[in-house]
Amino acid sequence: MKSLLLTIISFTFLFCNVNTNNKQLSVQNPVQENEITLEVSPYINQKSEINQKLIKTLSEFFKTRKDSHIENKYWLPFDFEQFIYPYFDISEYCYGGGKYGDFIFYPSLMEIIKTKSPDKWILKIAFMENDTKTQQHTVLGIYNIIAQQIDENIYLSRFVNYATEQWKIIKTEYITYKISPQKNPNQSEILQQETDIKELLTFFDTEPIHITYYSCKNPKELFEIKGFDYHLMMYSNDTGGLAENGNIIFSGNNSEIYTHEIAHIYIMNLFPNKNIFLDEGLATYIGGSGGNNYLWHREKMKSFFNETPDFRFDQYNDPYGVYFKNETPVLYMISALICERTIRLYGKEKLFELFDTKADLWDLLEKVGLNKDNINEELRKEITLSPLLF
Ligand SMILES: [Zn+2]
Repeated sequence: MKSLLLTIISFTFLFCNVNTNNKQLSVQNPVQENEITLEVSPYINQKSEINQKLIKTLSEFFKTRKDSHIENKYWLPFDFEQFIYPYFDISEYCYGGGKYGDFIFYPSLMEIIKTKSPDKWILKIAFMENDTKTQQHTVLGIYNIIAQQIDENIYLSRFVNYATEQWKIIKTEYITYKISPQKNPNQSEILQQETDIKELLTFFDTEPIHITYYSCKNPKELFEIKGFDYHLMMYSNDTGGLAENGNIIFSGNNSEIYTHEIAHIYIMNLFPNKNIFLDEGLATYIGGSGGNNYLWHREKMKSFFNETPDFRFDQYNDPYGVYFKNETPVLYMISALICERTIRLYGKEKLFELFDTKADLWDLLEKVGLNKDNINEELRKEITLSPLLF
């Protein structure tokens, strides 16, 4: 899944705390010719006039989805205001744009489902991979899109608003929670989250950003409200969450507190050019990871350092994929230690300077006296010092 993550992060769309190293899509440049834009199940009645309209709209959307991620005449305009990139989940970055080497990725419309609203339908789509060498067809994902008739036109939209229509809403000063019917809201977590956000506002010296927080029971439900009946990452972990454009948090942690993801929202708004490695580090420094705070993981990292004296941090440029005892994200923590060390030696303003540029990671680290020769030694030194906490 690394290819997904690499492209996802370019949209500041992160799935944190999910270990997905086993599944990989091939990463190659798309070729336009021979592209299958939409396959339609023979079980769908294609003589029906409305089905013809729905299929035509969906097909035209798939032909044009790569033209822009911020507008498409077949997609509901309001979605772009709410989500900025409303079809990122099914963009070519996730499910290919045509022919990739020996693989073809294509959408296949499985079913058109009526809803209780006479002007709304659910379009259920499988994303297929065809290996042209072996002729094996593999389902990569099954995704639901809402189609809505407005006057004579059909518009597509994201599933999430439909899926959460009946969810309980709780509004606080900084957050609108949408709470899964599978769980009860935790009031003490809601209060703790408000306290954390106040501290975060002081840390960044900034104004509040209002956040929409989908509180799901687990990652499976998280993917379901996003529209997935199946996704490669849906069953890979018991916890996890996402910060998305539009100041949206999807939590799969059965919890109303997710300071790590909220930190991502503030970082993405304040520092749009931020480096992804440092982004994960600062979010972990502020909000911990996977239900444990930074101090807890910092203690684990001491053991990691002792047990792996040959581990070289300078061999990594992105923060994904290395875990200690399946619970401490090592590279998030390396980056968090860099943040702590920067604040200790140079102050917070210097740290923010590092976030405000698109420069290469190692050029950035040079500004705080770190390079590939000394970083291993410097961070091993940092962790022995008394913690400087957020
Ligand atoms: Zn994160």
